[in-house]
Amino acid sequence: MSAIRKLLRDNIRALKPYSSARNEFSGSASVFLDANENSYGSPNEQSLNRYPDPLQRKLRAEIAQVKSVAEENIFLGNGSDEAIDLLIRAFCEPHRDSILITPPTYGMYRVSADINAVTVIESPLMPDFSLNAAAVLDQCTANTKLVFLCSPNNPSGNLLDVKAVTRILNNFPGIVVVDEAYADFSEAGSWTQQIANYPRLVVMQTFSKAWGMAAARLGMAFSDAEIITVLNAVKPPYTINQLSADYVYNALGKPQWRDQKISQIHAGRKMLSEQLEQINSVQQVFPSQANFLLVRFDDARAIYRFLADRGIIVRDRSTQLHCENCLRITVGTEAENNAVLSTLEEYEKSTVH
Ligand SMILES: *Cc1c(COP(=O)(O)O)cnc(C)c1O
Repeated sequence: MSAIRKLLRDNIRALKPYSSARNEFSGSASVFLDANENSYGSPNEQSLNRYPDPLQRKLRAEIAQVKSVAEENIFLGNGSDEAIDLLIRAFCEPHRDSILITPPTYGMYRVSADINAVTVIESPLMPDFSLNAAAVLDQCTANTKLVFLCSPNNPSGNLLDVKAVTRILNNFPGIVVVDEAYADFSEAGSWTQQIANYPRLVVMQTFSKAWGMAAARLGMAFSDAEIITVLNAVKPPYTINQLSADYVYNALGKPQWRDQKISQIHAGRKMLSEQLEQINSVQQVFPSQANFLLVRFDDARAIYRFLADRGIIVRDRSTQLHCENCLRITVGTEAENNAVLSTLEEYEKSTVH
């Protein structure tokens, strides 16, 4: 049995996936009466009366080009959030297995584990948000199936050290997930180019951030074909709807749009970071490889309220480990960034130092 099959839950290893009408016949024909669809069409101008391709072949072929990854190594989910849930459901036996996360990090890993009655082991990042590979390896148990790493990390914005991640890949016998939701904003190379070397590596990316299509709900997982096959077997067949698939397919033809926005966001990040450093109540602006800045203030609660009262919403991360008095500020348009800065200057004037 392959290492991947051994890691699967017993019931998933034995699963006979649902075979949809669109799976059983995918050739060309002129009369489709196999799926109980409405052959007359749809009420609106664009017809959506036919079930979409459960494996999104057309879109995946395009993504394969853009990402330099073979189609068989690409899974598409209803957001990366669906891939997170599917990985936990496929590999972790409820009430027995565990995942390991490295706080402070993205909240959905824990929520998905909690929903699936899967234990969460926390192996904190260091106070400077660097990855402690020795501690991660030490804390994994025989029942730890998945280690979730996020690079660039949300909410801290830093990349995880390649050597530390490699050490975990080489020594942890389960699945290592590297969540690269913010990879498009960073200068580092992507872990997608390493999936051939590490069959138990899963890399996640998304169209929600740099590509500006959060409402389309389309996330990607890249890994060994065996894991991709499992994810496709566990998911309901039609989680990616035709509107989203077409929308993203068309957007992929406009990489210059994405590139231009990334450079604008880079410029905004630099400007925002430099200007924030000048503000009295700012204690620290953490370096970021993402489209947000983690900023330590002297009183994050007060500043959060001051901004919110003036219609500016940022994310209060001050209850997260190592994030005392920290707000996470997304880099917006030039006007939005300036609105944050001028409101913070207003706050300075309103408080006596
Ligand atoms: C935003 C974000 C995601 C969510 O991606 P979706 O594709 O929109 O579900 C995943 N991981 C991290 C770390 C994020 O910050």
